Amino acid sequence: MRLFLNDTLSAATKALPEGPITLYVCGVTPYDTTHLGHAFTFVQFDALVRALRWLLPERQIRYVQNVTDIDDSILARARKLHTDWRALGDAQTSQYVQDMRDLGVAPPSQLVRATSAIATMQDLIVSLVERSAAYRVEGGSVFFRVRSFDRYGELSRLTREQMLDIAAKQDDADLDDPRKEDPLDFALWKGWSGQSDEPCWDSPWGRGRPGWHIECSALCRQYLGQQVTLHGGGADLVFPHHESEIAQSESALSVRPFAHIWAHVAMVRMDGEKMSKSLGNMVFVRDLLGSHSASALRLYLLKHHYRGVWEWSSRELDDAAAVTSRLEAAARAPDTSAADTREAFASALADDLNTPAAIDVLTRATGQTLRDLGGVLGLSL
Ligand SMILES: [Zn+2]
Repeated sequence: MRLFLNDTLSAATKALPEGPITLYVCGVTPYDTTHLGHAFTFVQFDALVRALRWLLPERQIRYVQNVTDIDDSILARARKLHTDWRALGDAQTSQYVQDMRDLGVAPPSQLVRATSAIATMQDLIVSLVERSAAYRVEGGSVFFRVRSFDRYGELSRLTREQMLDIAAKQDDADLDDPRKEDPLDFALWKGWSGQSDEPCWDSPWGRGRPGWHIECSALCRQYLGQQVTLHGGGADLVFPHHESEIAQSESALSVRPFAHIWAHVAMVRMDGEKMSKSLGNMVFVRDLLGSHSASALRLYLLKHHYRGVWEWSSRELDDAAAVTSRLEAAARAPDTSAADTREAFASALADDLNTPAAIDVLTRATGQTLRDLGGVLGLSL
């Protein structure tokens, strides 16, 4: 069985390369509760890993997901709540882990914190400065020199104007920082502001803390090596986060490609807008699990293909719960599934993780076959 996935960088469907599989998925910034958009991303990657283990049982799989436990948004939130950034991060990470467990999401091989890789981040930044891909400025900050990487923009296919427009809307937007050679240059290292509640680490450039993008380049390097088979995350991370990761990792390590396949999960919308913390239009996983089973919620999420944008609807969640009840009844009935059921289910998953088609196959299965195949999607039937 060969598995094909869409690759954002080449905008083409690619076969999964041979050999051990390494998967890195950008995880949460632990400063608020897990909403349905997060759940869609992590349930889809959970389904992918479950599908890989079932379709390719002989292949070794290592799945690393990170927790962005240090960045501007978590520091701002901690300040607002008059709490310590580390205590806030710990509490929200525990809540996230619990939400995922309640949703039947299998834990990744390793859930790693950004602060566990500060030394690796500094090594990468040293290498970037040596190669003139980064420059140190007054105040102890170091910026990545975007013009040193001529493929910057290849992943997102954005024009320079579009990139500037999105960069201006980031939490830590600093386009007009006069120390930058180019407004698109981004901070690899941020010199310490001197504020006592701002965490800092010693570095070759003085005290400071890492920028967001370098965290994931370093975590990939530290936990999975110079290259990864698959790199994933929500589609809102394509630019600037993943675009910048490619530029950093390929410039610092001289290895290309950084990731063989880039997989991005579409955004969930609510009231016509992307569901997000910044807009405040959110439905929380923990509330939905109060009234629906984990299987019903997973079925609702997986009825949407991971690359298609969709809109939250409580009616459709209720419909998915009704389908789940019918599947549970069918799973207890004698197995009268057609002979090619498992093959049809496998083909659907191997075709760019087509979970809606796989669920269609489930609705025609019964008994043990249905229980087995439901288990591949993490449904307890
Ligand atoms: Zn990341």
